[in-house]
Amino acid sequence: MATACAQTPAATSAAKPNVVIVATGGTIAGAGATSANSATYQAAKVPVDKLIAGIPELSNVANVRGEQAFQIASESFTNEKLLQLGKRVSALVKDPGVDGVVITHGTDTLEETSFFLNLVIRTEKPIVLVGSMRPGTAMSADGMLNLYNAVVLAGTPSARGKGVLVAMNDDILTGRDAAKRINIKTSAFASAWGPLGMVVENQAYWFRAPVKRHTTQSEFDIDTLQSLPEVHIVYGYGNMAPTLYDAAVKAGAKAVIHAGTGNGSVPDYAVETLRRVRSSGIHVIRASRIADGFVIRNSEQPDDKYDWVVAHDLNPQKAKILAALALGKTNSTAELQRIFWEY
Ligand code: GLU
Repeated sequence: MATACAQTPAATSAAKPNVVIVATGGTIAGAGATSANSATYQAAKVPVDKLIAGIPELSNVANVRGEQAFQIASESFTNEKLLQLGKRVSALVKDPGVDGVVITHGTDTLEETSFFLNLVIRTEKPIVLVGSMRPGTAMSADGMLNLYNAVVLAGTPSARGKGVLVAMNDDILTGRDAAKRINIKTSAFASAWGPLGMVVENQAYWFRAPVKRHTTQSEFDIDTLQSLPEVHIVYGYGNMAPTLYDAAVKAGAKAVIHAGTGNGSVPDYAVETLRRVRSSGIHVIRASRIADGFVIRNSEQPDDKYDWVVAHDLNPQKAKILAALALGKTNSTAELQRIFWEY
């Protein structure tokens, strides 16, 4: 008698989705000295083939193969590495033999890479970023189930067309606004606007859909992108030094993200410096150092008058990614602001 379990993966390998795991390092490939080392370990040690071999259950849900793009901790990502990864993922999703792509990634800058890929890869196919908070050598390591869930998601037809996704701690988040919000718990990733759904026992359950432009609806395209301009972030705080903006410009920034207090506010003694930065042709983008909420245009500061841009709900590091892409297309403040509203 046939079993009634509708979620049992198909038995023949031809019926299973083909998923490529592109590994970049991070804690999910980390190793500690003892099983009690949940927070002290070396990231980026275990090669992708060993990660895959450690989860035999993967072969029940997909035909999986691995590629080692990098073996780094994600704080060491650069613009060059983002471009290199993006071009490889773009090539993979163009392959008719690939149904979905999983990217293993350190959690520190996973939110930057997920947003970048969400903006530049023109595909309906699922692209899923995944990491872990504990190395595989630790008790209650979270990487195995996270990676298994990511592979399930990458092979799930209902994940198509939803933009780049993040699979962490059973949650499905959009790569646009998923962010690392706790640095020490397995529940590290969240979005101010909530998860899109969850993966539970080989099945994706959806509760929301993204409304911002992404992937096939994006005006950005990795295949024509050769480089990204420098964009730097200056943090706002009481008694901050306005000369930090000048340092960002000196470092080559074409735009400065002001990670302001509250509603992206700027200290009265720093306004003139920022206005001078804008007069010199460098864009000023007001974001907030607060994880939730969004910056309101012409509130706190007269953005129209000063010709500044607001980052909407994007955190400063995500605003940096979008600004760099936008500046490759336009130097107009109005256009930059349109882009910040739409993505
Ligand atoms: N800092 C390392 C990284 O981002 C380890 C953190 C992690 O992956 O959770 O790759």
